[in-house]
Formats: sequence, C-alpha cells, structure tokens
Amino acid sequence: MEGALAHMTRDPRYDVLFEPVKIGPVTAPNRFYQVPHCTGMGYRYPKSEARLRGIKAEGGWGVVSTQETEIHPTSDITPANEARLWDDRDIPALRAVTDAVHEHGSIAAVQLVHNGLHTANRYSRAIPLAPSNTVIDSDDPVQARAMDKADIKAFRRWHVEAALRAKRAGFDIVYAYAGHDMTLLHHFLLARHNHRSDEYGGSLENRMRLFREVIEDTKEAVGDTCAVAVRMAVDELLGKEGMQYDAEAHDVIEALAELPDLWDVNLSGWSNDSQTSRFSNEGFQEHYTSFVKSVTTKPVVGVGRYTSPDTMVRLINKGQLDFIGAARPSIADPFLPKKIENGRIEDIRECIGCNICTAGDNTCVPMRCTQNPTIGEEWRRDWHPEIITKLDKPKPYLIVGGGPAGLEAARALTQRGAEVVLADKADVWGGRVTAESNLPGLNAWGRVRDWRVWQLQQVANAQMYLNSHLSAQDIMDYAIPNVVIATGAKWRKNGQGRVHRTPLPFLNNDHVFTPDDLMIKGVNVISSNGPVIIYDDDRFYMASVLAELVVSAGHEVVFVTPAPIVAPWSENTLEQTRIQTRLIELGVEIMPMKHLAGMSEGRLSVSCAYSGQVQEMACGSLITVTSRTPEDKLCAELTVLRSDWADAGIKSVKRIGDCIAPGIIAAAVQSGHLYAQEAGFDAVPEPKREDYGRI
Ligand code: ADP
Ligand code: SF4
Repeated sequence: MEGALAHMTRDPRYDVLFEPVKIGPVTAPNRFYQVPHCTGMGYRYPKSEARLRGIKAEGGWGVVSTQETEIHPTSDITPANEARLWDDRDIPALRAVTDAVHEHGSIAAVQLVHNGLHTANRYSRAIPLAPSNTVIDSDDPVQARAMDKADIKAFRRWHVEAALRAKRAGFDIVYAYAGHDMTLLHHFLLARHNHRSDEYGGSLENRMRLFREVIEDTKEAVGDTCAVAVRMAVDELLGKEGMQYDAEAHDVIEALAELPDLWDVNLSGWSNDSQTSRFSNEGFQEHYTSFVKSVTTKPVVGVGRYTSPDTMVRLINKGQLDFIGAARPSIADPFLPKKIENGRIEDIRECIGCNICTAGDNTCVPMRCTQNPTIGEEWRRDWHPEIITKLDKPKPYLIVGGGPAGLEAARALTQRGAEVVLADKADVWGGRVTAESNLPGLNAWGRVRDWRVWQLQQVANAQMYLNSHLSAQDIMDYAIPNVVIATGAKWRKNGQGRVHRTPLPFLNNDHVFTPDDLMIKGVNVISSNGPVIIYDDDRFYMASVLAELVVSAGHEVVFVTPAPIVAPWSENTLEQTRIQTRLIELGVEIMPMKHLAGMSEGRLSVSCAYSGQVQEMACGSLITVTSRTPEDKLCAELTVLRSDWADAGIKSVKRIGDCIAPGIIAAAVQSGHLYAQEAGFDAVPEPKREDYGRI
C-alpha cells in the first residue's frame, strides 16, 4: 500500500478527533463531518456522485452528506444538478451513495430540501411556493404563490415521504434544512419573506412553527433508526435586515434546542458561508456559531475551512463544536482525516479557499478543484486522490517549468515511480502561483506550490533545479527520453481579448503595463503622473486584485471594463459582490460597458459598448488585463529539431498547462495531472460516460 493508506503513528494530541459520537439513534465513527455540499453531479451523474462520496468515506470522513436533495417537483432547481427524491425512482441512485459510504464504515446523511421561492421550477413548470406572494430570487420573470393551509399540509407530507424514501435508500441522518435563504423552511422563518397573518406568520414563534412541525414529522417518520439533523443559518450578515446570531437565530435555536438530534450551523447566504481566502481566514464563522453549544445538549457541527488539526482539537476541547464540519477541505483533500490518523500532517493538501469548486455547481457541471485534480474524475476516469498506478519500467522525464502544471506533473510522475528532472529558470518554484500569491488577498494560493514542492522533496526520484533556463539545445543535450514543456503564458499588452480580437496599435507605448509587469517588477513601474486605468476584459479576479495593489501604492484608480459589472465570472466563485464592494470602498471609480478607443500622451479614449459614443479621460498609466499568450517558443524550437530527437535519445515532447492554452490554475494542475496519468499508455482509455440519453 502507498500514499495515505500507509500506517504511521497518530499524534495522541489528535485522539479526541477520532472519538465516536452518538447522534440520536446512530453513531458517527469519528468527529470528521463532511457537511452537505454540491458536486454538480447530482441526479444526472449518479455513478460519479456515489464514487466521489465513497472516496470521502474511504478518506476517513465519519459522516458523509449528500448535496441538497429536492423532495418534490415544486422544488426543481434545474439547470443546477442536485440530488432528488421526488419519488421512488430516485432511490437507487442514492442507495448507491449510501452503499459507497457504508463500505468504509462511515455514516451517510441526506440534506432534504424544498427550495421555496429560490427556484423557478424551469423543468417541472410547477408554480413556486412561498410563505407569501412574492417574486422569486432569480431573474426569471416568475412569482411564487402564497401557500394556503392545504399547501402547508402537502409540503409536510412531501417532506415525510422524502424522509421515508431516504431511510429506504439507507441514510443514517436525515436533514431538515433552513438555511442559505434558499429553502422554504428558511423563508418561513425570515420576516422579510413571511408576511402571513395566520399562525405560520407574524411572531417568531409563528414563523418557526413550520420548522418545528417538520422536525417533529421527520422524527416521527424515521427517527427510530435515523438521526434527524437540522441545518440552520445563524446569521445572514445583513444586520437588522436579516436573522442575527445574537437575536432571532439565538431564540430559534434556544426554542428548538433539544428537538433535533444534531445542529449543523452556518452563515447565510452561500457566499457568506463559503467565503474565499481572499476575504476571510480559517475559522471565520466561529464568532457567529460559537454560542450554539451553550443552548443545546445535542451535538453541534460547524464549518470554517478548517484544515489545521490543532485548530480542530482546540474547537472540540473548548466545547465549541462536537464535529469538525468541512466541505472544501474535504474536496481539496478527501483523505484529510486519514492523514491525521496516520500521523501524516504534512501530507494534507490544504484547501486554498479559491472557490473553483463552487464554480462547478454554479455552472451546472461536475466540480473541479485547484488543489485536487482528481475530484469529479473518480468514476469518469477512475482517478483516486491518493493512489495512482505504477509505471512499468518507466523511462525518465524532463519537465521544463515548475509552475502548477509542471509541479503537478512531476509530483504525480514520481508517485508513479518515474525518475523526474524538474527545471525552472526562476529562483523560486511555483510560476504564476508564486507571482499571484504575492498579490493582495491571494497568499493562501501559495499552498498549490508548497504542497507539491514538499511532496517532491520527500522522494528520491525527483531532481529539482532552479535558476536553470533551458534552451532547445540544452534539452537535446540532456538526452532525457520524455520531455514535458510547462513554460506557462504571458499577459498580453495589446488589448487583445474578448472584445478587441486583434491588437490595438495605439497601446504600443511606454505607459501601458500588464499584470506580469506589476507582478515581476512591482507596483513601482507605474508612473504617478495621473490616474491609473485598469482595463479588464479577463473578467475574473486578476484586474480587481491589481486595483487593490495599485490603490495601496497611493494611486487613483479607474476600473474600465466592457462587462456590466466588475469581475462577472467571480459570481461563480461567490465573490462578485465582495469584490465590487471592496473596490467601491477603496474609492476606485468603476466604468462598466466601455471598450478601448484610443490613447495619446496622458489621455485615454473609451467608447460605450452599446452606442459607440466616445469619451476621453486623463490617464497616467494603463494596465491591460485581457488575455495571455502561451509561452510555446521552446516547444516550437524543439519541434524544428524533431528529426534529431531519436539520435538525441528523445522519444516524446509534450506541452502541458498554460503553455498550451492559458486558463485558471486548476486547469494547469489538471493538465499536469492528466499528463502523468496518461504517461506510459499506448492507448489512453476514453473517460466513461453516464450523460447519454437513456431510453
Ligand atoms: P503553468 O500554469 O502552466 O504551470 P506557469 O506560468 O505558472 O505555467 O509556470 C511556467 C514556469 O516555467 C515558470 O516558473 C517559468 O519560470 C518557467 N519557464 C519558462 N520558460 C522556461 C525555460 N525555457 N526554462 C526553464 N523554465 C522556464
Ligand atoms: Fe478549496 Fe479551491 Fe479546492 Fe474549492 S477549489 S476545495 S476552495 S482549493
């Protein structure tokens, strides 16, 4: 056995994390609790979903939960891809999940949900249900109707029926879910949604009536063998406009304290619950959730991107939590508990808090993860986060470029038993990750480099050389059979991007800079002669991070973008509101829906994206954040020498990562991992599919 399955001694300090804990009629084997989280697999990719959850259990998570599980067609969240228990036909897919979890001695939880006014029911075409007549919370031109008493009765019956199905599917824990401003039970609790004048509205006692009834119903239906858990948001970070941990949320939990078998508490909405490392640190929810243990004797689970076992022990020992809840840390490292258990703390692949995982769900596809390239590929490609097939008599590999792609390829190839030489021209490892992790708020991203460099330093079959700028001739001279080019990409200075598809000649002057200029030479390259304009056609994080950097150096910043909002793709990482708010608070002037139209000494012209109307403004320096050019020169030079490869002892030359096509860091890691996984195969197996039409 290899990797995390190897046994070493556990540090006794961490023993408390491995104590079994009773939850009503069931017992969790330890305190590691994978709280409900979406995977983007849901009912459409059930085999992938089951395999992913099974690996979490194999990795030592004592409780493994599903994603939210729709109980009825009036809670149809299409095109998102969650779990379903609409009727008995949904049971087998979830039975596959519970079987996979039980196989490793863990227990399985199902998060039943009715999405209330959060969903348009685009597939089922049912009219959404809500406590009161209201528009739904997406942009669909749809209103929800106020539920009458018969609807409330029906909803309670659906929840019971779904709980019974969950029991038949083999679940040990069944949730009643009142959180994230996404669920009917939450909508009834919240005064801003619940305007009823009957016994289900008005006072807090009335607004929590349905929640209480549903917990009681669930206990009565399945409580003999299943624990009933409650997931509740204790604060919405809306001040008095929302539910607060020291006001109504406190009163709800106090009133219902002993009713469920477990309290799973967090922040609402999802962007507050899953904050990125750019905006919050490990343990960011503690301030809000720490009171819960003082008002209930039932076990409590909470989250906060916990990856440090010492922090986990502290939380248990000071009586703040009974379970260490995790979604993202369990995605970045499904074997986190096993690594603590086996005394391999340094091997934990820590979540970097980037939320590329949430982007999977938000774009309705199986999730990916910057740190864990195997997530979402467990069934499709048969990838495992810790185990990888050994190469049969491997020939050595030379990897040029130690960014995320090169580092991951090197790491995975050494794990497969190959001799690897890794060279980088820089004096530090990490390529773009190192450069970007020096930007404001992105420090935790350095973990992508740190984990891989550490792994490579532990093995005998990796040779690593910094300050080694390799030419094509150097590579020929080394005569290493397999050559991997991972030389990355460079930001363009010429404005080419989504809007301007060809270079803009007027940008060819000394006052234009790229993100690379700032990351390599520092913010001082910018002249202080007039405002700094950042033109963002990249539309993710980079331009806004540079805006922060430039403001911190004392410059006036104008943010120009063809998009209607700042960093629109960051909606998928749940950061858009925080990013735009931060820029506004920093005094950055935001000019949306503008194209670049011209530049002359001290002046920039921009045009309206709709009318074309041009306006001019003062501009000391312009930073273009548009797109990148692959650094593929080295590969091209080697290709010219192809006829000499055999004589030089070279069998293959391949590009990976950003030097094929620049993308997000997760894509570079994935590219390096894919290369290593496919190495040594004459014919690489096609990924399996479960997305074809079934008749
Ligand atoms: P990726 O995201 O694909 O891993 P990066 O841009 O992060 O790409 O990393 C590319 C790395 O390749 C950088 O660290 C850079 O210093 C290195 N590099 C580029 N060209 C050469 C070369 N000719 N010899 C050695 N290292 C190189
Ligand atoms: Fe953590 Fe990023 Fe992976 Fe999500 S994608 S689990 S935030 S490292």
